[in-house]
Amino acid sequence: MLTQQAIDGFRTQVRGELIQPGDSNYDEARKLYNGMIDKRPALIARCVDVADVISAVNFGRDNHLTIAVRGGGHSGPGFGSYNEGLVIDLAQMRGIRVDPANRTVRVEGGCVWGDVDHATHAFGLAVPTGFISSTGVGGLTLGGGVGYLSRKYGLTIDNLLGVDMVLADGRFVTASAEENSDLFWAVRGGGGNFGVVTSFLFTGSPVHTVYGGPIFWPLEMAADLIRFWQGFILDAPDEMNGWFGFVTVPPVAPFPEQYHLQKMCAVVWCYTGAPENAAAVFEPIRQFGPPAIDFAGPIPFPVLQSMFDALYPAGLQWYWRADFFNGYDDKTIGLHVKYGSQLPTMHSTMHIYPINGAAGRIGPQDTAWGYRNANFAQVIVGVDPDPQNNERMTEWAKDYWLALHPYSAGGGYVNMIMDEGEERVKAAYGANYSRLTQVKAKYDPQNLFHVNQNIKPKS
Ligand SMILES: Cc1cc2nc3c(=O)[nH]c(=O)nc-3n(C[C@H](O)[C@H](O)[C@H](O)COP(=O)(O)OP(=O)(O)OC[C@H]3O[C@@H](n4cnc5c(N)ncnc54)[C@H](O)[C@@H]3O)c2cc1C
Repeated sequence: MLTQQAIDGFRTQVRGELIQPGDSNYDEARKLYNGMIDKRPALIARCVDVADVISAVNFGRDNHLTIAVRGGGHSGPGFGSYNEGLVIDLAQMRGIRVDPANRTVRVEGGCVWGDVDHATHAFGLAVPTGFISSTGVGGLTLGGGVGYLSRKYGLTIDNLLGVDMVLADGRFVTASAEENSDLFWAVRGGGGNFGVVTSFLFTGSPVHTVYGGPIFWPLEMAADLIRFWQGFILDAPDEMNGWFGFVTVPPVAPFPEQYHLQKMCAVVWCYTGAPENAAAVFEPIRQFGPPAIDFAGPIPFPVLQSMFDALYPAGLQWYWRADFFNGYDDKTIGLHVKYGSQLPTMHSTMHIYPINGAAGRIGPQDTAWGYRNANFAQVIVGVDPDPQNNERMTEWAKDYWLALHPYSAGGGYVNMIMDEGEERVKAAYGANYSRLTQVKAKYDPQNLFHVNQNIKPKS
């Protein structure tokens, strides 16, 4: 049992706030991004520095508390919290230092991607990230990181130079190509299994204003669009990115009123090549078939990165399922059209992200992220503000996933699956799983950090 005396002792060791049930900000502090998940931790430690994190890990371990580490809080299954557990909340650790001369970016473990985009944009740099700027750097990076720059600069982990970490025994270490290289291999895809990352060191790449944004076509063109887009993106220069999606047009400006609430198919583009070449690169896209809505044009990278933030605020209900694919044939395209035409709610969607190009040129064993040979990461997402729709949208996502899964490459992206059991975690890592269990046994033999897509320590 956790005593008040123990908590009071802990309080003398940390500069950050400790929040318990009954505190006026407890309910706010325990909220997760996914409104479907409701957890009541025993204690939330809002760490402000590495010393706080060391104290929190030691306190949790010594008091036999289940530890959950919270970065941006975006985990689908809600791994940023745990009932009756200790939440190590990093959200106050938001420092960033850009070194423009060396093109490196030091990012504290609680930053969200909007923090990084803001800081790097001032220097004409960017770090490859995901498609929503409120997502945490911590979880997204440790799971891999798929985004607009994946084809040009690789996954987020392919731009990681090193991490500072607090291990299960309270030790502070650096992991990089030179130091603790086994740990560095594992954290590039292995999630939060190995310790608490207090800061990340990334390479920044020259990205400022890009040419991109969504282009929408009528739903009836979906099969042709998937065929066209797949062929185009598999052959496109690395500077070109575009993910396919089934979407519902939101009933707000700037969307033309005649399309409000219509289900459509879309590709969200991002071209980082020379601006003078953009029109020519986009010509075949616009010629494929007349778009219903065409929002592609010059846009500052952070604006593209945060374009969908308002559509997906914290607190919506989320349920998602994911798989990797090598490609889509007539059969799988037909299944996509069938289920994609039945989006159960306005926010629900299905995305296919290209992961060929630079991301696909890294060897499958070079980092823990094993699916380097797959061309696409696919995610089916039921989302809605109203919990009453949970069953309907969850059923849709499961049915959709079950129909397509037999044609997949086997596993799904760890950052886009729910709490689906050990076999799905193994499938997500494929041939790398065994090595991950060895690294886990070395750095966290008691599996202290198990509130995640858990990799069991090799016994
Ligand atoms: C709206 C939305 C959009 C998304 N878009 C993309 C996308 O475009 N591309 C993509 O690749 N993914 C995307 N994701 C998935 C996202 O990468 C995962 O949900 C990720 O786990 C979120 O990280 P977080 O830090 O916000 O979450 P949290 O819930 O805080 O953490 C997730 C996991 O990471 C661990 N963790 C977090 N920070 C640390 C740390 N500093 N040290 C150790 N462990 C840590 C946690 O313990 C937990 O297990 C998206 C998710 C959402 C909800």
